[in-house]
Amino acid sequence: MMGTKMKVECNRLDRGFNLYKEEFEEKALQVLESGWYVLGKELESFEKEFAEYLGMDYCVGVASGLDALKIAVRLLGIGVGDEVIVQGNTYIATVMGITESGAIPVFVEPDKFFNIDVKGIEEKITIKTKAIMVVHLYGQAANMPAIMKIAQEHHLKVIEDCAQAHGAECFGKKVGTFGDIACFSFYPTKNLGAFGDGGAIVTNDGEINKQARVYRNYGSDRKYHNQMIGVNSRLDELQAGLLRVKLKYLDELNNERRKIAARYLANISNKSVLLPMEREGCASVWHQFVVRTCGRENLLHYLESKGIHSMIHYPIPPHLSEAYQFLGVRDGQLPITESYAEEILSLPIYNGMTLAETDYVIESINNFRA
Ligand SMILES: *Cc1c(COP(=O)(O)O)cnc(C)c1O
Repeated sequence: MMGTKMKVECNRLDRGFNLYKEEFEEKALQVLESGWYVLGKELESFEKEFAEYLGMDYCVGVASGLDALKIAVRLLGIGVGDEVIVQGNTYIATVMGITESGAIPVFVEPDKFFNIDVKGIEEKITIKTKAIMVVHLYGQAANMPAIMKIAQEHHLKVIEDCAQAHGAECFGKKVGTFGDIACFSFYPTKNLGAFGDGGAIVTNDGEINKQARVYRNYGSDRKYHNQMIGVNSRLDELQAGLLRVKLKYLDELNNERRKIAARYLANISNKSVLLPMEREGCASVWHQFVVRTCGRENLLHYLESKGIHSMIHYPIPPHLSEAYQFLGVRDGQLPITESYAEEILSLPIYNGMTLAETDYVIESINNFRA
């Protein structure tokens, strides 16, 4: 028998805020009272602490995850006509990070973990290929050892899009520590989310660190001395300060997501709903909990009727979006990417989600008849 109807949102950012409300409020007030709001002590400290958390040398805060990707591509010298290999089923920002500098995304199909299918990479490498852009989609690490091996053999750069995978690991090593540059987003919904936009690039390369710092600030290393045409892309003091508070709890927050995911995995049982899988040795941080089902719209509407809000990440793969028609990748050319786009559904998972809410989602799905 179904219990009483509940309302379960796909995400509740207010719950995440309330978990550490007092610390956030104290930090926000401290920054506001400081009289210093851009490129200051909070950013410096956050950059140091986040680099340390990852075990990397440098972190450079920027204004968004997309900016981090754009800057990474540019600083690796990738430009007009160069090709960058990327999975077909990613968030469109990954692809925009590539095309901003005139480079061409070359799509590879995903594996069963929703990451780039390593087996599909080599056949896409040409004389123009400069890099592999790896996305740790939904919080699940891609098969990094295999990808790094291919990159080394073919002398390709590796950029990691870690926007959905702060703290995720792959064989005991954190994502963002494998490639040449890692890009993070601190958009509010991300595992390490700010209270506005934010992003960072992370690297062990001292020259890239230096260049990124100059580039994000109008190309200037000293005030009014501009050595290149740069941009204005900075992580502000308020966001940096609030991220410092959250970073202390990132592992705890990821573990909370893992508990919800484990409960879903152990208890959702419906033959028309395929549960997500984790790569051996690469425990997910569950940015999203994505199931697959043939009658996706039916499940979505059924859940809606139960008061449960689910989402689709993402309904239109980048190659089929209006923005990328000029690439000439047609419907049918990436059949796995396209079928995932039609089958996937993201269930509610967020910090502060209650056991009752989780169990209500489980019970509702188990009662779904396709
Ligand atoms: C969120 C996201 C981005 C973009 O980050 P923004 O901070 O929103 O610009 C890029 N790639 C992936 C995979 C993302 O999920």
